[in-house]
Parts: sequence; C-alpha cells; structure tokens
Amino acid sequence: MNKPKIMMVYGTRPEAIKVAPVIKALEQDERFESIAVSTGQHKEMLDQVNEMFKIQPAYDLGLMNQVSTLSGVVSMALAGLDEIIEKEQPDVIISQGDTSTAMSAALAGFHREVKVVHLEAGLRTGNIHSPFPEEANRRIIGQVSELHLAPTETSRENLRRENFRSADIAVVGNTVIDALLEAATWETHFADERLNALVDTDQRVVLVTTHRRENLTAMSEIGAAVQELAEAYPDTIFALPLHLNPKVRNAVLPKVDTLSNVIITDPLPYDQFTKLMGRAAVVLTDSGGVQEEAPSLGKPVLCMRDNTERPEAVLAGTVKLVGTNRARIISETKLLLEDETAYAAMAHAVNPYGDGKAAERSVAAIAELVGVGERLPDFQPEMPKDPGLDEPRLSDQL
Ligand code: UDP
Repeated sequence: MNKPKIMMVYGTRPEAIKVAPVIKALEQDERFESIAVSTGQHKEMLDQVNEMFKIQPAYDLGLMNQVSTLSGVVSMALAGLDEIIEKEQPDVIISQGDTSTAMSAALAGFHREVKVVHLEAGLRTGNIHSPFPEEANRRIIGQVSELHLAPTETSRENLRRENFRSADIAVVGNTVIDALLEAATWETHFADERLNALVDTDQRVVLVTTHRRENLTAMSEIGAAVQELAEAYPDTIFALPLHLNPKVRNAVLPKVDTLSNVIITDPLPYDQFTKLMGRAAVVLTDSGGVQEEAPSLGKPVLCMRDNTERPEAVLAGTVKLVGTNRARIISETKLLLEDETAYAAMAHAVNPYGDGKAAERSVAAIAELVGVGERLPDFQPEMPKDPGLDEPRLSDQL
C-alpha cells in the first residue's frame, strides 16, 4: 500500500515557524510521505526560518516579488498550488493559520478534492475586518476542512458554536510552543553587537514589534509612543526588530531612529528573536505568535490591538489589550515599568497555548484521518502558576 502523502503549505514567517515542528514530525514518521511547499509570500523572513529549522521546501512559488495585492497573492497561489497538487497528488493538504497563503492552500486542496486539514483552527475575534484579512481567511479555511486542529479548548468551542462536528476537531495545543521549546535548546548569539552587549547587563529591555495591516494607519502613533517612552526612560533599552514592510518602517523609523536607547534592527532570525524575548522585561506587540510565546516565558505583553483571537493569556492575566492610542500605550507601559506590584501581577509564566507536543498530536490526528493510526488525548493546559513559585523558567534557558 502506498503511504499517504501529506502536503504542508506555508509562505510567511509565522507559518513557517508553526509548521516546522509538524514538517519535522511527518518526516520522521514512516507511515507518511511528506512534502513541504512554500508560496514565498514572504521572502527574507521566510528564508531565515527555513534555514533555522532546516526545512527545504520542494517547491517555492516565489510570490513575494510578483504581486502585492491580496487578490493577486490569492490568484497566483491558487494557480501555482493547483499545478503542484495535480503533479504530486497528495492525500492531505495542511493549511496553517489564517494568511492568504493558508486560505489559498485550503481552497486549492478543496477544488481537487484533497482532504484539507486546518492547523491552528478555530481562532476567532468575531469581527470579519479585524484582523484583516485573517479573520475571514480562518472562517473560509474552516468551511473546506475535514479535520480542525484547534490549539485550545476556546478555539474548539468557537468551532462547535459554528456547528462543526466534534469528531472532526482535535485540541492539540499550538505548534508555536513546540518551536519555542526547540529554540530554547539552541546556543544562540546576537549578530547585532548592541544586543550582544545586553547579555551580561541587567539593563531593562522593552521589546516592541508591530506589523498588522489594520494597524498601518496607527503605526505613527505607535512610533510616537515608543519615542516618548524612550525619552522618559533613558536607562531602558527599547529594542525594535522592524518588519520589512516599508509602510511599517516609514511610519516608525523617523520617530525613533536618532534615540540612543532605541535599538532598531531588521527582523531577527527566530533564535535571536526568542532570546531577545527571554531578555525583555516587557513586550509591546500586535503579533499573534508573540502573544502566544511571551506568556510562556513569563513576559508581560501589552497587545497593541483592540481585540484578540487569543483570549487565553488575557484571561490568565499576562496579556493586556491596550489598543493603538499613543497615550494608552504610554500609560500602560509606564505602569509596568514603575509599579512593581502591577508588573509582578502580569509576569508569571503561563502556558495556555501548548506543552510542546502539538506536532505529535497533530500527526496522530492526521494518521487517524487517513486510517493509519489513532489520535492522542487532547491538550490540557496547566493552570496559571503562582508568581511566587521558584520554578526554573524557559526564559532562563534562552
Ligand atoms: N519573530 C521572529 N523575528 C522577529 C519578529 C518575530 O522570528 O524579528 C517571530 C516570533 O517569535 C513569532 C513570529 O515571528 O513566532 C510572529 O510573526 P509575526 O508577528 O510576523 O506574525 P503573526 O504571528 O502576527 O501572524
């Protein structure tokens, strides 16, 4: 009997990080033949992750330099993936998350009657315009998927509310935590000397990342907030690995690039980024992945969005939604930098998103889907840890 062929499609940095553990697990599993396909929706940031996790996609559609509109990305991805599906004849296509790549992969698979599996299924804000276009992409992917790999119980409940069948949903945890745990085992050095110099000091670091499409108009507010904070706290380092999108760079850079305590870098390779997260006292971000990773490192996150599809860490008290208003970002950051009690209340390590076994559970659920194995028990998060506990932290290992 031929082995079931599993095709993983990805194309952006966060997808590559989240599919890497699954690609690895599939490669090592003799029950399957697996193939990785990149749409190349991101270029440099994706190459960094491929290199880091030693992933070699069999195909790369190289979309980044060809198109810039959402419809352009989707139409080219659909056409390119359709050809690959026709040639490779996979039994299963795995679509990760909520990007245009993920939505195109799911639709391309559905059109060819290939079983579609949605990894990181069931995240919802309830607002189709936010995050844009991701919330719509998730819902579309869900409609054509035969197996929903939900990271948490909340995401399973979202799917159940939309009448997806319980039997088609497995709660597996988020593979980003598998990736983070793997990164913690690597020996990592910062390429940037300014970051390297922080390693042996106790200088306070605030890490800032921003890139969301719906935040682009507010980006200069975010830049102005960082500027004001950096001026108010000259002994604190504000580290900004800046996304490559010129709209992000043009809005943020002019506000902060002359300040001596602001370190601006290009996007960091995953190993260096996670190390920096481990070194930070506070994280300001609008990123989905960072909202999942930082809580497991015990880092308070101020999320520069009005809503989130990741409520678990908000409920656990380690992520706070602060929106994109300059004054609010400043006041919430000041609170964490000045009030030890407020800081301690948010700085406890929680792991609502995974235990490092999400890839294993995902592969087991796929095995069941194609009739070569059985599922594992669902992921169950540990309850929030008492901040007073003296347990070693993952951030100490990075
Ligand atoms: N990340 C990285 N280098 C950076 C910034 C982020 O490797 O300079 C990682 C981060 O650890 C997380 C992922 O990229 O796993 C998040 O990507 P992004 O914020 O672009 O997308 P989102 O998660 O919001 O979809």
